[in-house]
Amino acid sequence: MSFISKRIGQIPPYLFAEINKKKAAMIESGVDIIDLGIGDPDLPTPKHIVDKLVEELQDPYQLKYPSFTGCAEFRNAVADFYLRQYGVKLDPETEVLALIGSKEGIAHLIPTLIDPGDYVLIPDPSYPVYRMATMLANGQYFNMPLKIENNFEPDFTAIPREIVKQARLMLLNYPGNPTAATVDLSFFNQAIEFAQKHQIPIAHDSAYNMVTFDEYKAPSILQAAGAKEVAVEFGSLSKTYNMTGFRIGYVVGNKEIIKALSILKSNTDTGQFTPIQKAAAFALNSNQGCVAKHNQIYKQRMLSMVEGLKSIGVKVEPPKGSFFIWAPVPKGYTSSEFVTSVLQQTGVILTPGNAFGPSGEGYFRVSLSVPSERLHEAIERIKQNLKIMIS
Ligand SMILES: *Cc1c(COP(=O)(O)O)cnc(C)c1O
Repeated sequence: MSFISKRIGQIPPYLFAEINKKKAAMIESGVDIIDLGIGDPDLPTPKHIVDKLVEELQDPYQLKYPSFTGCAEFRNAVADFYLRQYGVKLDPETEVLALIGSKEGIAHLIPTLIDPGDYVLIPDPSYPVYRMATMLANGQYFNMPLKIENNFEPDFTAIPREIVKQARLMLLNYPGNPTAATVDLSFFNQAIEFAQKHQIPIAHDSAYNMVTFDEYKAPSILQAAGAKEVAVEFGSLSKTYNMTGFRIGYVVGNKEIIKALSILKSNTDTGQFTPIQKAAAFALNSNQGCVAKHNQIYKQRMLSMVEGLKSIGVKVEPPKGSFFIWAPVPKGYTSSEFVTSVLQQTGVILTPGNAFGPSGEGYFRVSLSVPSERLHEAIERIKQNLKIMIS
């Protein structure tokens, strides 16, 4: 007899927890590991944001329970950001909710919208939380394959009618993790049309909304006509401002969905620490020069990695956003075989594509969140060893 619920029993160990175990063992045995696996920015949180947090910590009133939906400063800052960035007007009272990181919000949204047995339409490959949170809610997921020939966009017409009927939520994510794919507003228009027609709400995960290169500006799904009737969008301070440890994000859009999510949250987590919300509001309201600076760094890293991969025969187009490269494994390898060989022969950690869903098989993900010297070292090691592996 196990004490553990069937729900938890069916969940495989969190992907990066497993990789970290292997990494620790290799470090222990003296290997100089370069981790291009996890997507956690190596760049520091900008100083003005940390200073603001320290300042807010001095006010004893801020150290009490936070308000359930988030402090007014934070919700207003998110609404102002949407108006500035996308021209989308939001009511900070009813259309913005603070989250303890967007991961928390996504995981809690699923049981907010589905009953046991209902379907969630999930991009494949995608962020593992979508799948696992669906399983934890006793739901079923339907994988929407993302294919390179469709710019890693799902084909809505390929979803079987029976599944469409039982679907209570669709998840999307652009700029995408792990695919680094980006879309134009026309894709969101199509998605909203599908959502309206079948009355299936959409949650768009825009964790990388501000991690973009050159002229490309990632659209918000809320820019699509009628989007607020059927959609919410998750945003995060984590990747934009290197604030992953702060645990602060938000969800915006459809009022009814946001209200329902806040009911679930008010009975579980009581919200994020107010000084963190205030520091996050300050980040959104301040000069955005730091964001442009980070993106410039990611772009340089991305270009040298694309070149490095090309030089060993791995073909990839430079992405327009995110800090990932999604590349096909060399012929003759599965994703796991390739990533395991690279780790054993070079000490470089990559993520196998199939960890993000069955359609990720045949790919690997490179995260650009290491300093450029280390990235160059990784490219050199891969160059020297992979030629041998491929030939
Ligand atoms: C990093 C990431 C998140 C989580 O962000 P937090 O706000 O730190 O919880 C959500 N979605 C995707 C696709 C991510 O890569």
